Amino acid sequence: MAIDNLKVLSTIKAAAYDSLGHPEHAGRVLRSLEHLKKHLPPQVFEEPTPAPMEKIRAVHDLSVIEAVQSEKFIDLDTPGGLEVYPASLLASGAAIQAAAEALKGALAFSLMRPPGHHATPHRSMGFCYFNSMAVAVEDLIRQGKAKRIAILDLDCHHGNGTEAFCLGRPEYLYVSLHQFPAYPGTGRTSIENCINYPLMPGTQEKDYFPVMEMAMQKIRDFKPDLIGVSMGFDTYEKDPLTEFGLKKQDYFRMGQMLRDFHVPMFTLLEGGYHDDLPFLIEDFLKGWTT
Ligand SMILES: [Zn+2]
Repeated sequence: MAIDNLKVLSTIKAAAYDSLGHPEHAGRVLRSLEHLKKHLPPQVFEEPTPAPMEKIRAVHDLSVIEAVQSEKFIDLDTPGGLEVYPASLLASGAAIQAAAEALKGALAFSLMRPPGHHATPHRSMGFCYFNSMAVAVEDLIRQGKAKRIAILDLDCHHGNGTEAFCLGRPEYLYVSLHQFPAYPGTGRTSIENCINYPLMPGTQEKDYFPVMEMAMQKIRDFKPDLIGVSMGFDTYEKDPLTEFGLKKQDYFRMGQMLRDFHVPMFTLLEGGYHDDLPFLIEDFLKGWTT
């Protein structure tokens, strides 16, 4: 791996909460971090710090923040519980740091949980409490550090939360490839500055990558000064929650395709629920950085 440029924002504190039997479990980040530490030199890793409250508030209603803070049950997918709130602040903090690193020329990957792309400005849902991608990009827009930001969502599910955040705001372009029909039921068509590519269950790499090329062209046409990638690994053929057919080596290719953008870019872990996750992330990072 040509890692001169790579930064991995992560901490074992992301594993501080868990609920029994939940597919979005602590081991996802713990095992992935352990695995990457065997393959990457220590200077690549950076401990994230919690996002300041006003940066979460810039994206989410106070009621959303209070619900997460109270650690009360939100819904079956998003049960709340002990330590969810500090972990959510850390995940958003890592996203903010990853975006800032990208603007300084690094390839920054946030290996944190909870994921964020289903959390709308008004509601936590779908394993997601705060929308870390939205928090990170809104921070840069408000500070004037970026004028046009594209978000590419490669998770197998539609990022309804990120779409709701971006919709109608010309400084953002949201582009998503996802399984449809699937949770959360949104993303069937494009709307304004949110471009959706719904793909059938069973989609394999031969049908996936040409669509990803199209999606990337939309982003090039937008001429962003920063790209945030919501990187879900639940497009994997063995993922227990979804029905796509991407193989391990396809994540290397995905990384390579993203590398060829030559625009500052950061990536955040969203979904990915199979035990092979550490290996998929490793392949992705190899493709992205070599
Ligand atoms: Zn997903």
